[in-house]
Amino acid sequence: MKRDSIKRISILGSTGSIGTQTLQVVEESDNQFEIEYLTTNTNIEILAEQVQKFQPKGVVIKDYEKYKEFKKNYSFSGEILTGEEGLCRAAASERNDLLVSALVGFSGVLPTICALEKGIDVALANKEVLVAAGKFVSEISAKSGAKIIAIDSEHNAILQCLIGEDMASVEKIILTASGGPFLGASLESLAEVGVDEALAHPRWNMGKKITIDSATLMNKGFEVIEAHWLFNLSPERIQVVVHPESIIHSLVQFVDGAIKAHLGFQDMRIPISFALNYPKRNYYNFPRIDLIEIGKLSFSQPDTQRFPCLKYAYEALEIGGTAPAILNSANETAVQAFLQKRISFVQIPACIDFALSNIDILEEPSLEDVFETDRITRELTERFINKKN
Ligand code: MG
Repeated sequence: MKRDSIKRISILGSTGSIGTQTLQVVEESDNQFEIEYLTTNTNIEILAEQVQKFQPKGVVIKDYEKYKEFKKNYSFSGEILTGEEGLCRAAASERNDLLVSALVGFSGVLPTICALEKGIDVALANKEVLVAAGKFVSEISAKSGAKIIAIDSEHNAILQCLIGEDMASVEKIILTASGGPFLGASLESLAEVGVDEALAHPRWNMGKKITIDSATLMNKGFEVIEAHWLFNLSPERIQVVVHPESIIHSLVQFVDGAIKAHLGFQDMRIPISFALNYPKRNYYNFPRIDLIEIGKLSFSQPDTQRFPCLKYAYEALEIGGTAPAILNSANETAVQAFLQKRISFVQIPACIDFALSNIDILEEPSLEDVFETDRITRELTERFINKKN
């Protein structure tokens, strides 16, 4: 392997679900990647193991107490940074060929922008970055020439369907949704859902926040907004179809009526490997699907009465401005409260409805306005939650 063909990557959120699977892909990749920075919020034990194995140039521990603990208890000769400033420095390092952006929620907005501003390509797993600040992220990447390659399996699938195609030939895209663990549940039974049930996703093994988002269909709503920014499509050209088997990851319909679909096993290492190697492909021994064993695939209309979060996402996208940022921050606050057992499952959409109806939406916000909206939305949603209990 020639030195100049090695890709140097940094991973924001290396100890999370996408981060650890990214490192598995790196490990399987026969020295094609070199690790620049690994970052964690608090998980210094796993970070220390990753440091031993992957020998990064530097690490970031966002939490200051854990940063001090790491410095005291582990020997590492590379750079050790902390805070959001540390994350931005790692993200924007001149040595990065690619940044894997895999933080959870709004916290990924600033570091991802830091990389894009420097012209560094981003493999994006953190969809909330596009939900909250899609307009800015798109403008910045267009200006600097940095590419955004989606890791999200649906958008990764669409990207693959679009290879060799002209966007002018695209009629619409179809995002598939597994429907989550409560696909057939009645509205009454949803009120009784517990945290453990909501965390038991039938198809995908993911982090806690996205697993709850999948159960409410908020995740699919976010993906509609994500698709809007990634592929420059209006909301009516983005359809959501429930497909419980999760074998087709998404589809593109063209102007001649032809449809291309992308199929594969439910294993995030497949879209991760595509994003890391893009525009090339590399051999991996990841699981293959067996069509005969699968037998048949099914599709249905999503039910936005039982799962109103999907509807709220379309509405927020139509309204534009800071509406999607409000949607995102209200959801983050509500999911956190649900995981802490402070609100019920059906109160998650109620929090979002409250925030979208009561917080001022700015039509032409600046990026600073988006950060301020995030702060205000969290505060007011939290107040709404406390008043209810
Ligand atoms: Mg997805």
